[in-house]
Amino acid sequence: MNSVISDLKQIIEGEVSGIEEDLVAVSQDFGGIIQKQPQVVVRPQNSTDVAKAVKYAADKELTISSRAAGHTSSGQSLNQGGILLDMRSLNQIHEFRPDYLWFKADAGVTWKKVVDVSIPHGVIPPVLTNNFEVTIGGTHCAGGLGRNSFRYGSQADNCLALEVVTGTGDLVWCTPEQNSELFHHVLCGYGQFGIITQIQHRLKKYRPFTRTYFLCYDDLDLLLNDERFLVLEDRIDGLLSLFSPCIMGVSRTGVNGIQPLIKWFYRMQITLEVDSANDINEEELLSSLNFYRHIHTEDLIFDKFIQPIAEIPHPVGTANPWIDVLLPGSVAKQYIETALKRIPSFIDFRNTPVGSFCMVSPNTNMPMFPLPEEEFILGFGMYPTVPKSQLQPVLEQVNLLTDLGFQMGGKRYLASWVEFDLTRWKLQYGDYWIKVNEMKRKYDPKGILNPGFFQYERIGHPEMDKQQTQITQGVTNELQVAI
Ligand SMILES: Cc1cc2nc3c(=O)[nH]c(=O)nc-3n(C[C@H](O)[C@H](O)[C@H](O)COP(=O)(O)OP(=O)(O)OC[C@H]3O[C@@H](n4cnc5c(N)ncnc54)[C@H](O)[C@@H]3O)c2cc1C
Repeated sequence: MNSVISDLKQIIEGEVSGIEEDLVAVSQDFGGIIQKQPQVVVRPQNSTDVAKAVKYAADKELTISSRAAGHTSSGQSLNQGGILLDMRSLNQIHEFRPDYLWFKADAGVTWKKVVDVSIPHGVIPPVLTNNFEVTIGGTHCAGGLGRNSFRYGSQADNCLALEVVTGTGDLVWCTPEQNSELFHHVLCGYGQFGIITQIQHRLKKYRPFTRTYFLCYDDLDLLLNDERFLVLEDRIDGLLSLFSPCIMGVSRTGVNGIQPLIKWFYRMQITLEVDSANDINEEELLSSLNFYRHIHTEDLIFDKFIQPIAEIPHPVGTANPWIDVLLPGSVAKQYIETALKRIPSFIDFRNTPVGSFCMVSPNTNMPMFPLPEEEFILGFGMYPTVPKSQLQPVLEQVNLLTDLGFQMGGKRYLASWVEFDLTRWKLQYGDYWIKVNEMKRKYDPKGILNPGFFQYERIGHPEMDKQQTQITQGVTNELQVAI
């Protein structure tokens, strides 16, 4: 038996496996683009197991990565040749306090488990993402955005306290007041500064009845104006927009022969949460908006409304090079028009979900989640599934759309497909990039936590620089600003 496996078996209470089948099971993520295989998988039984595994990795100069449900898309949770912590084995809710509006749970608990426990008590976490199978640790490390993030920020913004194992194997509690620097960098930090073992998170009371209006727009300007109005005036409780292409005929004047004429329509879904339908002043709300058609009104009880709509199919042999860009509201129209014009040239636009969501910058306040410098922020997302054989041109276009976003003052949401070289990392974090590097050196001095996603400045530290060289070799695309 490999000595790392036998050593870990002696010190860890949970499971330690080097079986090929177990290693393969954690060697890919939702993106299906990057593949990495660790030499050992550890399924911790408690926080101390995590601390012991990290200490061991630091002593032996092995890398160690935390993987939860693996729903990120660029290998953020994968590990090549080191130790992989499968955080899903830490899955207990320890305290549930609807009276004080918080709960405390292991990082590997799924949001589904939290929702199932919360609903009967009339409470709910303030922000829910579109997927309940992911873990509370995984989304706190990414951000976690929902259709009401314009009001409540990200899930990370609703975190009250964390138990964290740092890169030196120290187990610490941190809150906005106690060990606050670590608290504020582990949140949205993709496991770079510490591994979260427990989370205390806010709850809120919910209202039992929801009404959602499905409103169709044929003009992007009108849609964006209405979104800005609704969100900044705080008129609604939830908002999501989905874009649909419609082929209006073909043109024979294009350089490459026949080209489809595509008109995009925009469906804005706005939700009100109330005690009863009588509380809704429909006339006042709808008359203030400039939609083209009122398509549908959906009345649902709250617990039905919050359930994710559909599972995303993931056929064998396909990859998911998704992209989410956060844009300053003032340039959103220009960016989206450019993106929508380009989309048909590189993906099957009829089967690719495209949409937008809104944020308000004062309500999201996480240093590791950089936002454009405007109050109203428009998130634009494109979620293609493509055969792996056709992936490369799509990745190039996603990178170009990323660079266009940076040029226009935007930022990326880092959970989807991200292929950053050092230049892009600096654009993502701006002036804060220096601090990000400083935090990495402080909380993970040997550079062993989750290598391969972030790239850092070279600092003359032999171990960190050695890993940086390996990472840089994997980055092939040069920064192109070509759109
Ligand atoms: C179908 C689908 C729908 C989605 N919908 C939304 C949405 O509506 N809103 C939204 O915001 N996002 C959405 N996402 C993105 C998703 O929320 C994030 O990718 C999230 O990070 C996934 O959590 P996970 O449990 O799978 O974590 P993983 O993907 O396993 O890990 C995510 C990152 O966190 C690190 N990590 C995981 N656990 C820990 C821990 N305990 N301590 C330290 N680091 C850790 C990993 O190393 C990795 O860097 C969606 C993704 C998919 C595939």
